[in-house]
Amino acid sequence: MPASDAADLIACPDCGALYRRAAVAPGEKARCRRCGRMLYRGARLNAERLPALVCAALIVLLIANSAPIVDLRVQGISNSATLAGSIRALWADGRPLVAALVAATTLAFPLLDLCALGAAVLLLRRDPACNAAARLLRVLQAVRPWGMVEVFMLGVLVALVKLSHMAEIRPGVALWAFAALTVLLAAILSYDLRGLWESRPVAPHPPPPEAAPLVPCHVCGLVGAPAPHCPRCGAPVHARKPASLARTWAFLLAGAILYIPANVLPIMRTSSLGGVESDTIMSGIVYFWTSGSPDLAALIFFVSIFIPLAKIGSLTMLLFTVGRGSPRGKRRRTALYRILAFVGRWSMLDVFVVALMVGLVRFGALAAIDAGPGAAAFGAVVVLTMIAAHDFDPRLLWDSEAPHD
Ligand SMILES: [Zn+2]
Ligand SMILES: [Zn+2]
Repeated sequence: MPASDAADLIACPDCGALYRRAAVAPGEKARCRRCGRMLYRGARLNAERLPALVCAALIVLLIANSAPIVDLRVQGISNSATLAGSIRALWADGRPLVAALVAATTLAFPLLDLCALGAAVLLLRRDPACNAAARLLRVLQAVRPWGMVEVFMLGVLVALVKLSHMAEIRPGVALWAFAALTVLLAAILSYDLRGLWESRPVAPHPPPPEAAPLVPCHVCGLVGAPAPHCPRCGAPVHARKPASLARTWAFLLAGAILYIPANVLPIMRTSSLGGVESDTIMSGIVYFWTSGSPDLAALIFFVSIFIPLAKIGSLTMLLFTVGRGSPRGKRRRTALYRILAFVGRWSMLDVFVVALMVGLVRFGALAAIDAGPGAAAFGAVVVLTMIAAHDFDPRLLWDSEAPHD
């Protein structure tokens, strides 16, 4: 097959069905007929505008991290917290895992994502064959799922409601900066990176034998004959994610085991003149319920208790049904997988709330909040189940069926 023909093929990442790409209007979506997954959508955002948006987002990210998020006053003493200050406080309190998790997801990965995207767009504009740009795009695609600014923003709002019960609060500059960053990142992330990959020329490679199966590259989406490395992005090419079932089982079991200490151990300890009080995830939910915020109690119950449990249960069911080769309900099971992969990150909410409370409530003997051992365990559950969902290959659900054209 000539390279130009292969370049218009597109493989559904969820079921492996192959399609020939058709033109779509801006905002219009092309969906897989077999599993319902959105394959691509007409771009509203032009790649030309990306560098300006990236620049704006970098400036806002800088403000969001250097200015105070909120100013807290208790009995005439005031304390303001920045994100970096909260991370330092967690580290100093002997919670390096939670500190590293918060720093990576709210600061390091979004920063890396923006810098890599800006640099890749500029490099590709000068030379579409530039290999450094391809490496940057691959790094960007690897870190993108781990940037969680929008979840952090929701965490800030929850922490503010919680603190408003105990002290006078004044929103800081960084609060507005985080809100602006969430909007800017949503616009930047809506840009389909395939547009950048497609601007790269495909290195010449020998035509595949007539009957060779076509394999999509999981990084740039190029469909071609099986080869050790993708001729467009250089990533290793596999027909299916390697050792998908074994890796998913391993991360899922580790996550399920840690789910117990995450719920039994305290995630937060509040010391005040009245003594020390420990909070588990569940007692935090009860607190919101009884203090007149049942909507927040429901939200935290949903993201901290329901989502991790649903994720562990559903992934176990998917692993068992793939193992048995069950032919029924493939479309439903694939849709369930897509929902799991989408909602998993929101479970980080409680970890962010704890981080902010630790950074904010530091009034010496009057009141202080420390993170408990449950916070690290809970953060690990979220990370492990996210890796498990990432390593599961939903195409295994469809492998008993031949791909259609
Ligand atoms: Zn599909
Ligand atoms: Zn590729």
